[in-house]
Amino acid sequence: MNSGVTDEQVDAVVNKIRSFGLDANISRGTERTVIGAIGDERKLEPEMFDTLPGVEYSMHIVKQYKIVSRESHKHDSVINIGGARGAPGVALGGNQIQVIGGPCSVETQEQMDLAAQQVAAAGCRLMRGGAFKPRTSPYTFQGKGEEGLAIFRKAADKYNLPIVTELMDARMLDAFLEHDVDVIQIGTRSMQNFELLKEVGRTNKPVILKRGMSATISEWLMAAEYIAAGGNHNIIFCERGIRSFETAYRNVMDVTCIPVLKKETHLPVIVDPSHAGGKAWMVPALARAAIAAGADGLLVEMHPNPCEAWCDADQALNPQEFKDLMGSLKGIAQVIGRSM
Ligand code: PEP
Ligand code: MN
Repeated sequence: MNSGVTDEQVDAVVNKIRSFGLDANISRGTERTVIGAIGDERKLEPEMFDTLPGVEYSMHIVKQYKIVSRESHKHDSVINIGGARGAPGVALGGNQIQVIGGPCSVETQEQMDLAAQQVAAAGCRLMRGGAFKPRTSPYTFQGKGEEGLAIFRKAADKYNLPIVTELMDARMLDAFLEHDVDVIQIGTRSMQNFELLKEVGRTNKPVILKRGMSATISEWLMAAEYIAAGGNHNIIFCERGIRSFETAYRNVMDVTCIPVLKKETHLPVIVDPSHAGGKAWMVPALARAAIAAGADGLLVEMHPNPCEAWCDADQALNPQEFKDLMGSLKGIAQVIGRSM
C-alpha cells in the first residue's frame, strides 16, 4: 500500500480478498503496509487491486506455470524419443547430450538420403528437417509439405533416426501422426499460437518448443504450460536466439537463459546455434558455448551441399564441418562430466 494509507483503504483491500474466499494477512511496517492473500491466489489478478485507493502495486507470488516448474518436480525430466517404433528410444535430458542434425528443409529424396547418412555417420541419434517452412516472404520456398514428411521418414528410417519437424498449422497434425513424426517442433513464430499449443498438448508426442524471438523466459514457460496443461509433459525448450539492436549476426544466442531455465523447469533445454548466429562459421563457437553452459542438446543445420540449400544456406554446416563439430563437443562434454 502507499505510505499514508488509511484504515478504510486497507479494509477495502482485505474485504476484496475475502470476497474471493481467501484470507488476508496484514503486515504493518514503519514505512509500508503489505497485505498478503492466503489461499489459492490464482483466483485473483493484480488488476483487481491496482485501481483501489491506497494500493501502490499488486503482484502474484506463486508462478503462473506449475506443471513445467521445478517446484512441482525436483528431478530433471528425461524425454524418451522415438521408442514407439521398435528401436530403443533416444533419451534427451539425461547425462547424454543429444545433437539433432539435418538440413533446414526437406528438398528431395536424394538430398535427405544423403543427409541422413551423414547425420548418422557424424554420431547423431536424431535428425531434423522442415517440410512446412515459416518463411518471412510468401514468395520464397514454402516447403515440400506432406510429401516432405514421407521423404523424410523414408530417409531417416534407413538409419533408425527419429525425426524432428516443424508443425505450423493444427490442421496438419493428423498428417504428422500418420507419418509418425517423432518430435513436433513449434517454431519461434508460433510460440504463442495458443490454439496450436493446446492441440499438441492433446498428443503424447515430444514437442520442441522454440523460444519466440522476442519472448521473455516467463512467457516461454507459460507457453510450455499450455502444452503441459493438455496432458503432454514431453516438452523440450529450445533457445534459438532473440532479437536485438545488433546487425552483425542474425540473433543473439541467449546463453544466460540456459541456467535460468534449468533452475525454473525440470524439462530439457536445447540450443539452436544455427538460427542464432545465421552464419555457418559462427555455429561451432556458439554450439560449444551452449554445451559448456549446461544445454542438454543442440539443433544444428547441416546440408550435404550448403551452397545449394533451398533455405538458410548461409548457416548450414557441410558434412565435414558437422563431423568436426561433433568431435570438439565430445571434449567439452567430458570436462563437464557428460557423455555425447
Ligand atoms: C527452423 O528450425 O528451421 C526454423 C524455422 O527455426 P525458427 O523457428 O527458430 O526460426
Ligand atoms: Mn532454418
